[in-house]
Amino acid sequence: MVILVINAGSSSVKFTIFDMANQKKVLASGLIERIGIEGTTMKYANHRGEEVKGEVPVKNPQDAVKIISERLLDSKVGVLKSLSDIKAIGHRIVQGMEKIQEPILLNAEAKNIVRECAVLAPLHNPHNLMGIEACEAVLPGVPNVGVFDTAFHATMPPEAYLYGLPYKYYENNHIRRYGFHGTSHAYVAKAAAALDGRPLDKLKIITAHLGNGASLAAVKNGQCQDTSMGVTPLEGVIMGTRSGDVDPSAIFQIMKWENLTPDEADSLLNKKSGILGLANIGSSDLRDVEAEADKGNKLCAQALKVYAYRVKKYIGAYMAVLGGLDILVFTAGAGENSSTMRAAIVAGLEGIGLKLDASKNSVRSPEPRVISTDDSPIKIHVIPTNEELAIAEATAKLVG
Ligand code: ADP
Repeated sequence: MVILVINAGSSSVKFTIFDMANQKKVLASGLIERIGIEGTTMKYANHRGEEVKGEVPVKNPQDAVKIISERLLDSKVGVLKSLSDIKAIGHRIVQGMEKIQEPILLNAEAKNIVRECAVLAPLHNPHNLMGIEACEAVLPGVPNVGVFDTAFHATMPPEAYLYGLPYKYYENNHIRRYGFHGTSHAYVAKAAAALDGRPLDKLKIITAHLGNGASLAAVKNGQCQDTSMGVTPLEGVIMGTRSGDVDPSAIFQIMKWENLTPDEADSLLNKKSGILGLANIGSSDLRDVEAEADKGNKLCAQALKVYAYRVKKYIGAYMAVLGGLDILVFTAGAGENSSTMRAAIVAGLEGIGLKLDASKNSVRSPEPRVISTDDSPIKIHVIPTNEELAIAEATAKLVG
């Protein structure tokens, strides 16, 4: 069964096409960037190692899906004989609120719910929806399935998801913690149990997804108990450009001093804060900040310490939530690749059962691996995430 996975954002469409029957092989993948802006480009690569890069005449998501389809059929770099080989399309959708808690077939009713949920994800859901409608237009008759970032966190209990705000804002306006990156947390928790050889429904796992955006989840017996992101992906640990947890009063003060509108304050917190704001070198990429810290930049070294400390604090909190811990999992860009960040996060946690093996931690590999010592009471894993594959699996299961 061939499954196309689409991740439609505000100015980009990413795609991956899988042959599920052939060991879930990636037939081709790529992305179109700067849609609707000058200089729209496409990158495409197939399983034979052939690549195409360059400018494309794409003005909207429908043009994007059209050009992806053309590449997939191309006589040189294509991977399909006919578009009818595509049996279903899986879409990454950011916000499903309490309305959608499972992968769902995107019929008219489900699309209306995606539209309604845009009230809490105005920068994401409308673009996800445009991606769905583009696929309907270009690939008519192929079922579209929505896989939601929030879905895995639907099992959080009220004590984890309610804010200390007047209850009417939850009841009337759905303001509560939802969490994001759910597809990734679910995927790596399952993979960690498989690597460990114990059943997922008997394990206490903390998953640390540390990419540009970053979040942790506390997973008990396969079910999410708590996660660090909230009603939007701003809450929680410090991220590339997002502040993470801040006393809201600090924002009100800054808004008054600098005469900021709510949108400007939102942009300050989402786009100018986090590592970018703390390190102050014009980059939100931990690689750049680590390199500058190595050269002696004190603000960069401090930013990395703040980042590690916040993650450490969430690990401690989630050990309390879970009543113990069997496996700590690192995933996503920094979690998979930065041995120094992993070491900084678990430094000093030997006494509560997390013993890092320095030589295993220093190994670079794309494979799932254990980086704790053999006698560590709590295992530490590095599991490369694969949200596209998780979406393809969920899609195949639903339509299969
Ligand atoms: P996204 O969150 O956009 O999906 P990723 O999960 O790929 O992206 O994370 C990208 C981020 O991961 C980079 O901005 C960088 O901060 C971090 N990262 C990636 N590789 C490394 C590395 N080798 N060392 C430190 N940080 C890294």
